[in-house]
Order: sequence, then C-alpha cells, then structure tokens
Amino acid sequence: MMGRRWRVGIVGCGMAGLASAVALARRGHAVTLLERAPQLAPVGAGLLLQPSGQLALAALGLLDQAIARAEPIECLHAWTHRRRTLVRLAYRQLDANLTGYGVHRGDLFQVLHDHARDADARFALGVTIASSRQTDGEIVAVDDAGNDHGPFDALIAADGSRSRLRSAPELEASVREFPLAAAWFSGRSDAVRGRLHQVTLGSRQLIGMLPVGEGRCSLFCALPRGGKEALRQRGLNSLKQEIVALCPESKSLLEQITTLDDLACGGYQIVRLRQWNSGRLICIGDAAHSTTPHLGQGVNLALLDALSVASELDRADDVPTALARAAQFRRAQVMWCWRLSNWMGPVFQSEGWLLAAGRDLALPSMPRIPGIGRLMVGTMSGLHTGVFARLRCASLKSPSVLLAGAESIQGAPSRRCDTDSL
Ligand SMILES: Cc1cc2nc3c(=O)[nH]c(=O)nc-3n(C[C@H](O)[C@H](O)[C@H](O)COP(=O)(O)OP(=O)(O)OC[C@H]3O[C@@H](n4cnc5c(N)ncnc54)[C@H](O)[C@@H]3O)c2cc1C
Repeated sequence: MMGRRWRVGIVGCGMAGLASAVALARRGHAVTLLERAPQLAPVGAGLLLQPSGQLALAALGLLDQAIARAEPIECLHAWTHRRRTLVRLAYRQLDANLTGYGVHRGDLFQVLHDHARDADARFALGVTIASSRQTDGEIVAVDDAGNDHGPFDALIAADGSRSRLRSAPELEASVREFPLAAAWFSGRSDAVRGRLHQVTLGSRQLIGMLPVGEGRCSLFCALPRGGKEALRQRGLNSLKQEIVALCPESKSLLEQITTLDDLACGGYQIVRLRQWNSGRLICIGDAAHSTTPHLGQGVNLALLDALSVASELDRADDVPTALARAAQFRRAQVMWCWRLSNWMGPVFQSEGWLLAAGRDLALPSMPRIPGIGRLMVGTMSGLHTGVFARLRCASLKSPSVLLAGAESIQGAPSRRCDTDSL
C-alpha cells in the first residue's frame, strides 16, 4: 500500500542514487537526481555482483537485464606469488544454485539509468551539492554556488566516499584516508573464465582479474604509496613487468594498456558515521560506510541501502521516522562487512610483511575448519551479517526481512538466491 507521494532529492548518480531513483520514481514519488558530473557516462571497470546485490536487483525487477552480458562467477581463487592456493571460496559451498556475476559497471549503470529515466526521475547535471538546510517540514540542497535545489520532503545523500553532505554535525562522521591506492583497467581477454582470480605478493602487491562477460575482463592492481605520481616516475613498463611476472594470465590485457592514462587510479576513504540520518537527510552507500574494496561488497551494500530507504519512504506517513527506521535496519547489516573490510584492507595491502606472513600461513587452512568455510562464503556472498547472523532462506523468500519491505516496491526475489539450504 503506497503512503504519501513525497518529493525526494537524491544527490549522486552512482549505483546507490540511481537504484533509489528507480525504486521511488516507479512508485510515483517526485524524484530529482542532482549530479556534479556535467554528463552522465558509464565509467569504471568490473564489479562482482554478489547474491545480496542480485537480490536487490531482483526486487527491482532488473536482475535479468543487469546480468544479460555478465559472466557467472563460481568462486574466488586467490594465489600466493609461489602459485600456492591462498584461498578458494566457491559459492556452491553454501548452495548449489548460488553464483556471483562479473558485471561491467557500465552495464549496470546503463540499466539503472534507463529505468530511472523511464520512470520520470528528473536529472539535474553539473550541480555540485555542498550542504543541506532543513526547515519545518522541508529540506533543500545547497550547491557550491550557494543556489538552493528543492524544497524536498527527503534528501538522500548518495554522493559517494567523499560525500560533502555527511559533514552535517549531527552525523558525527569519522573519515580516514587509507594510505595506499589501486589502479584498474578494462579490456578484452579470455584468459580467466568463471572466477575472480587474484595473486598476492605479501601485502605489497595484489593483482585481480575479473571476467565481466562477452570476452571483457577487468584488471586491478594495488599501487604503492604515492599512487599515480609514483607510478609515473617508475614508468608503465616496469609496472607491466611486475604484474605479468606475478600473473601471466594478464599478458593480453596488459598489451592493451599503452599509456598510464589508460589506467584509472583511486584511493579509499574509510568512513564511519555515528548516525546515517538526521531529520529529513539520510546518507547511503559509500557516503555512509565507505571502506577498502578488498571484500568486494560496496555496490551490493549500496543497492540494498537504496532499496531499504525507498521502501521505508514509500510506506511512510512521516519522513524522519521512515529514514530513521531504514538507517537502523541497514546499519545492523552493514557493520559486519564494514569491520571485516577494514581488517582485510591492511592484510591484503600494506607496506609491512608481518600481516601478510600470518595471512599466508593461516588463510589456506581456514576454509577447512568446520563452519568457517561456510561463514567465509556467506560473507563473500553478502548473505552473512554476523558470525551467527545470516539471511536465512525465509528472509530470501520474503525480502521484507532483508530489505525492510522492498517487496512492496517490485517483484519477487531472485530465483538464483531462492534456495532452501542456506
Ligand atoms: C578499485 C575498486 C574496486 C571495487 N570493486 C568492487 C566490487 O567488485 N564489488 C563491489 O560491490 N564494490 C566494489 N567497489 C566499491 C564500489 O565501487 C562502491 O562501494 C560503490 O560504487 C558505491 O556506490 P555509491 O553510489 O555509494 O557511490 P559512487 O558510485 O561513488 O557514486 C557517487 C556519485 O555522486 C556524485 N557526486 C559526488 N559528490 C557529489 C556532489 N557534491 N554533488 C553532486 N554529486 C556528487 C559522483 O559524481 C557519483 O556519480 C570497488 C571500489 C574500488 C575503488
């Protein structure tokens, strides 16, 4: 049952913003997306769409389109530089029907963008939102030239890991820059199929290859301190030699990189908010809980956040209460991933050797400890929300448990996640 028709401002056209826009605009809410980029273009490399993210897209009725060009991924297989298995986690350890998907970001972006547009969401591009201002019963977004946008009944801050909206004092944001960065590239290669392939050299180097369907493959590698600048001084050829020595499968992809500008580079912010919402404002996605990407959950969490906020707003009579409920519900699910990601960051990417040595000793045997293997796969899948807390079959069959009423927005949960043995 639909509640009132709200005016909703959404800051940021990433995955969290676009998914919120689709869910809300389709239900008749007046949605305005405010995006700093003057033109929308699909950017970025590959991402691993986990069963949790599949569930969110299925609830929006978009899963089949989102994975139409994607590569089914059976497992994560990580190796040491000596070609010993560091860890192999297969989705079928949890359930025979479960799989991940290697998806090109551009493909997912396009599906979400087209559905938001078709549902009459309004796009305001080239607008950088710097702050918000709440008055009785309304909220406005203020851009960096001092212009107001709105008024809205609710404002969703989906402006990513460097969010400016989360600086509202009530949210008590703590933001830390991870000292190291990563570079990534998308090209054509069939050298790795059906798995996320990773190779580590201590914690100094981490190379990953993720096939994203139709002969496309995404490559990422850890960068040392100094990021792209340090890379320029060192030279592209030396980086290529290091990568191919560790990961010969990357050879044909590397041949497609002709200058350093072909590589996208970025750092990570580690963000924690004491609360995600304040009155009519809520932060979601990376704006609320950005962390290092080593657990590969960011997009999946962002999609689930979007759905929870949309479903709470859709059935609400009161916006601040709806946003508080969504924040409380999602926070409990997100914190497990957030803590683990923060722990994994330095273990997989840091300048010391001790953590990596411990990892190389302990990790290969961990999946064989009773219960731990399933916990690891459940966490990778986004289905575990704590050591003893996981989204059981019942919650997958009734997304209300998982998504706080998302089934009231769209469709049925994913067939791919709909199993009895989870
Ligand atoms: C190297 C790397 C690999 C990753 N791999 C994975 C993976 O395999 N799986 C996974 O799930 N996640 C992965 N992630 C994490 C994932 O990319 C993020 O968690 C996810 O994109 C967050 O989505 P979002 O919508 O919250 O933010 P974003 O995608 O960052 O979108 C934010 C949007 O807001 C806009 N914006 C920013 N500031 C403003 C402003 N002031 N005003 C208006 N607009 C603004 C931006 O232009 C952008 O469009 C990876 C991240 C990195 C860095």
